[in-house]
Amino acid sequence: MRPQICDFLPIPELMQAKSILFIQPHPDDLEIGAGATIARLTSQGIPVSCLTVTDGSAGTYDQHMNPDLLSKTRRNETAKSSAVLGVQELLWLDFPDGGILPYEEVRAEIAKMIRQVKPQAVMVCDPWLPYEVHSDHIRTGMAAAEAAFLANMPNFCPVDLQEGLQPHAVDMIAFYYTAYPNTFIEAGEYWNLKFEAIGCHNSQFPPDKMNQLRAFLEAKAADYSNQSGRDMSDPVEAFKVLTPAHLHIFEEAWRC
Ligand SMILES: [Zn+2]
Repeated sequence: MRPQICDFLPIPELMQAKSILFIQPHPDDLEIGAGATIARLTSQGIPVSCLTVTDGSAGTYDQHMNPDLLSKTRRNETAKSSAVLGVQELLWLDFPDGGILPYEEVRAEIAKMIRQVKPQAVMVCDPWLPYEVHSDHIRTGMAAAEAAFLANMPNFCPVDLQEGLQPHAVDMIAFYYTAYPNTFIEAGEYWNLKFEAIGCHNSQFPPDKMNQLRAFLEAKAADYSNQSGRDMSDPVEAFKVLTPAHLHIFEEAWRC
């Protein structure tokens, strides 16, 4: 039988990754998109680093909220949440929050982080999510995907090499907040930890909002179970997992 296009580039197994760099535009995105999976990985002793691109200072509808205070509050909330999930390393780029990310600078900073942390896998929000308008999400997702693709090329950001870093090849890139999932992870006992971690972000999710969010994410998890085509009794988190090779002139990637 003739091979299918997607067979040319097999999809890696996310849970086989030996180390993962998780990337989020704002404090709390990772817990919502991948909290249970992060907890599952850290419980298996997999080294997990979490990189936040913005300072989170725009995450409020309160006109009287001081942006610097909000940023500090969210950093503390992230530290608490990461302790719940067992994350070993928290990294911050501290770009200003609120839709003004300088794309090429963010891409260079993320590539530098990849060369420093040397993860086998990178996970970030999917920049190809249909109808997504928040440019922090689109630019962070795209910058991380491109950085994962370019970090192994010595002539990309050669200043990193002058500073003693080496090019680094990432084996897989996974996307949360995706419309095209190909990998479904059962949350099991880690489902409650996900909500314990989200609950640490009290500036964003006071108790009444937490209840709404939990109901929404549980409906979504049931939807993912149906999409997986497998009989999954536990809540599910879903991801699009690809190799960096899928990310350049491989138009079938959306359906692999
Ligand atoms: Zn966000």
